[in-house]
Amino acid sequence: MATPESNLNRSNLINTPDKNGFFGPYGGRFVPPPLEKPLEDLTEAFLKYRNDEVFEAELHREYVEYSGRPTPLYYAQRLSEYLGATILLKREDLNHLGAHKLNNCLGQALLARRMGKKKLIAETGAGQHGVATAAVAARLGLECDIYMGEEDMRRQLPNVNRIRLMGARVVPATSGDKTLSAAVDEAIGAWVAEADDAFYLLGSAVGPHPYPMIVRHFQSVVGTEARKQVLAQFGRLPDMLCACTGGGSNAIGLFYPFLMDEKVAMVGVEAAGSGVETNRHAATLTTGNPQVIHGMNTYCIPEGLVSREGNHCIAAGLDYPGIGPEHSFLKDAGRVTYEAATDEEVMEAFATLCRLEGIIPALESSHALAYLEKLKGTFAEDALIVCNLSGRGDKDMDEFTRRKGLNDSPDGPAKGLFC
Ligand SMILES: *Cc1c(COP(=O)(O)O)cnc(C)c1O
Repeated sequence: MATPESNLNRSNLINTPDKNGFFGPYGGRFVPPPLEKPLEDLTEAFLKYRNDEVFEAELHREYVEYSGRPTPLYYAQRLSEYLGATILLKREDLNHLGAHKLNNCLGQALLARRMGKKKLIAETGAGQHGVATAAVAARLGLECDIYMGEEDMRRQLPNVNRIRLMGARVVPATSGDKTLSAAVDEAIGAWVAEADDAFYLLGSAVGPHPYPMIVRHFQSVVGTEARKQVLAQFGRLPDMLCACTGGGSNAIGLFYPFLMDEKVAMVGVEAAGSGVETNRHAATLTTGNPQVIHGMNTYCIPEGLVSREGNHCIAAGLDYPGIGPEHSFLKDAGRVTYEAATDEEVMEAFATLCRLEGIIPALESSHALAYLEKLKGTFAEDALIVCNLSGRGDKDMDEFTRRKGLNDSPDGPAKGLFC
């Protein structure tokens, strides 16, 4: 039987954040004064509607009818045989728009409507969050401004076109390096100027309080469903959960509803890019240290440690110098382990899932698969593992084939592609 003390310790893991937005020493709200009031209003609205039955029913209906939830917990039989463990994939790739991002966008957009806001503001780097935000704005009849670095607009033209088709405005960010950080600065500036009418829709479990708490809440639908599904399908909890971490939203969404289940191990997998010993990676928790970034205290790769140009890893969605503060807290608490997978390992895992299951995973999700592939042959015989397939990889085909040197080949997929 658990002692009161261990109960206390464990409940400290889920009774987070505190009222100032701290997960232990991490998180908080480190922002200029003009942002205090909009963030306070947002906190108040979220706490009011979080457990409101009508709001919940509304959100549930959107999940079912617009996004296609619940997503299956899929027994990957051939992958299981190959790796030597029972592997269950939480199929977030089957959501509308092909990833978990919509879970959060729908929740925040409904909250925006409840707050009487008429416009959604968001920033986007690779464009995925911009597309998801534009979609929910269209769905709810809200105006929408997506801030995107001018350089990123050029690189991600198909997403720019998707956003515009859905009726949103793409606002080019022209300051600094003309990429994501410029877009963040300019989007925040616009929010301060328009805070009465506009809602800032943040795409991952990062940033100042209350965003990490809000995003965790809306993404927890992933873990809540998975927990019910694994109990119904296998009659027991899994031995391990595994998910990729960029900002950490798909991972915390899967992990949070299991945090109190002491026997369930959890692994977050970061992008090791060309290798954690090089200057091209995004392995924040593996190589970084705590500092204040983007309004929160969290582990962060110190400036100068990784190169500034281009992508640091193969998956644009994982290329973020910080990490959600709750992950920093869970790392220090020893509750979640964080590992890193290199681009090479990721491409191999990507191809393995295509070949064995007929599923093309996002390169982001392939980081989680790559970690499992590293463990091949070392699992206990009856190991039961839930891996979050955060998104589908159709968007990544070009990157994959380019890296494999296949785009110049007139003969189609070269022999030796997968081995
Ligand atoms: C955006 C994205 C991620 C990374 O974001 P998290 O907040 O870390 O979940 C992972 N997978 C896919 C498919 C994405 O689109």
